[in-house]
Amino acid sequence: MSLEVRNLTKAFGGVKAIDDVSLVFPTGSLTAIIGPNGAGKSTFFNLITGAFPVDHGQVIFEGRDVTHLSRAARVREGIGRAFQVASCFPTMTVLENLMAAVTSHIGRWGNLSHRAPLPGVRERAMEVAEMVGLERVADVEASILSHGDQKLLDIALALALEPRVLLLDEPTAGMGPEERWRMIERVRALWERQKLTLVFIEHDMDIVFSVAASIRVLCYGRVLAEGTPDEIRSNQAVIDAYLGT
Ligand code: ADP
Ligand code: MG
Repeated sequence: MSLEVRNLTKAFGGVKAIDDVSLVFPTGSLTAIIGPNGAGKSTFFNLITGAFPVDHGQVIFEGRDVTHLSRAARVREGIGRAFQVASCFPTMTVLENLMAAVTSHIGRWGNLSHRAPLPGVRERAMEVAEMVGLERVADVEASILSHGDQKLLDIALALALEPRVLLLDEPTAGMGPEERWRMIERVRALWERQKLTLVFIEHDMDIVFSVAASIRVLCYGRVLAEGTPDEIRSNQAVIDAYLGT
C-alpha cells in the first residue's frame, strides 16, 4: 500500500473541506480524482503534501505515518507534487532550473558546499527534461515558455526530486482540447516508464475515463464513489451529483 489516508478531516472556518476521507492509492496505480468545484480535491492534496495541517486523521506513506512531518520531509520520503510556475526561476533556462532542482536534491546528502556544479547534475537534469519531452526547449528561458511547457516544467521540477508518488492538480487546466490530450498522454507515458504512483485531479471527463485505471469521486469533502471508469460512469450518485445525464 503506497499511499493511504485514514479518516482525514480538515475544516476552514465552518466548512469541512475534507470530511472523514479514507482512501488507498496502491503502489504503481494511476488514479484520477474528480468532483465538483469546491469538493475539496486541492485541499486533499494539500493535506497529503503537508501544505496544511490536518484537523484529524492520518496520512500513511509506505507504511509510515507522515501526518506530522514537514512538507520538505515528505518530499524526502518521496511524496512529490508539481510546483506552481511561480516557484521556478523565470530568468533561468529550463535546463538551469532543472539543474538547480537536481542540485538541491543531491544537496540533501550533504555535499552542497562547493560552488562548482556537482558531477552528473547536467546529465541528470537533461534526463529529467527528456522524461517530460522538454529537451527541445532545454535552453529556453522559463519565462517565455508556452503555457503547456510551463506546466511540463512544473512536473519536471517535481520529478527532479525523485518522487515515488506524484500528485498533479489539474495538469491540463487552461489548455485547448488538443494540447490537453498531448499533456495527458505525456503524463500517462511518464507514469508507465517511471513506475510512479500517480494521482491527478482532472475536470475533463473524456480524459479521465480514457486515461485513469481507477477513479475517486469527492463531493462536499466526502468520498462519493470509487471504482473503475465503467463503475463510475454508471454510478447513479455520481451521475446525480456531478456527471449529469
Ligand atoms: P476543489 O479543489 O475541489 O475545487 P478546494 O479544496 O479548493 O476544492 O476547496 C474546498 C473548500 O475549502 C472550498 O469551500 C474552499 O473555499 C475551501 N478552502 C480551500 N482552501 C482554503 C483556504 N486556504 N482557506 C479557506 N478556505 C479554503
Ligand atoms: Mg482545486
